[in-house]
Amino acid sequence: STFEGLGLDPLLIQHLTTKMGVTKPTSIQRAALPVLLPEYNPSSGPLRDVFIQSQTGSGKTFSFLLPIIQDLLPLSSLSYIDRSIGTLAIIIVPTRELASQISEVLEALLKLRLRPVNDTGEDSTAPRLTRWLTSGLLIGGSTRTHEKAKLRKGLPILVATPGRLLDHLQKTSSFNVGKCRWLVLDEADRLMELGFEDTIKGIIQGLDSRRKLAIQAVKEGKSVEVGGWDWERQRRTILCSATIREDVQKLAGTALKNPIVIKA
Ligand code: AMP
Repeated sequence: STFEGLGLDPLLIQHLTTKMGVTKPTSIQRAALPVLLPEYNPSSGPLRDVFIQSQTGSGKTFSFLLPIIQDLLPLSSLSYIDRSIGTLAIIIVPTRELASQISEVLEALLKLRLRPVNDTGEDSTAPRLTRWLTSGLLIGGSTRTHEKAKLRKGLPILVATPGRLLDHLQKTSSFNVGKCRWLVLDEADRLMELGFEDTIKGIIQGLDSRRKLAIQAVKEGKSVEVGGWDWERQRRTILCSATIREDVQKLAGTALKNPIVIKA
């Protein structure tokens, strides 16, 4: 089986194959990608939240990173990306170490070039995605001021630990998350073990209220609408966990609406 059959963009497939040595999807990727990729359009209506039950090492990271990147790709064809669009995807992880690991994978994926390279090798004129689609870490490792400056410039994809993320949601007014369209809770079992339940509830409440304000601001003409892009679509949440223990189910109950459960 291949990535082609799962609905992954050819540019992403080429990048995975030639630059990252990834050629065949793992079983969790085979199950999750079709559901999470934007092309997936069941007759039954709105895009669903997803509960991914799988172990570390199963390839779950690509299962959520690839759909997020593919979802944001159409923005690259707009001639002008307003930085004020802010943060569009947030990946919450239990530890700084995990945040750094995911950020590394993300950076490697974002080296994608926006035109296919030819057979003779690299097309160095093809623009890199990273010009506008950048990622950043919010893990409390650096100073708040430094993180605030990065947030003000706009970070479309964020990898964060819960405490520092909530802190910025509450205190950093230039943190623009009103149009955030993806939320990932990675290693949710560990998030619960480490006592982050209330922090995550606070984050979700913060995202919901910022979203209401952002939509209101566009309607009142106080903020830019990004033409030709469905920026107003509901936020999708993905929760990953190795187990479906009671505490994880409780978190899923708070974070997910009518989720599809995927096991592999
Ligand atoms: P994860 O479970 O997401 O932490 O991934 C575990 C490891 O498997 C990572 O080192 C990935 O780079 C690698 N990996 C994930 N998907 C694939 C794939 N389809 N083919 C080869 N390696 C993969």
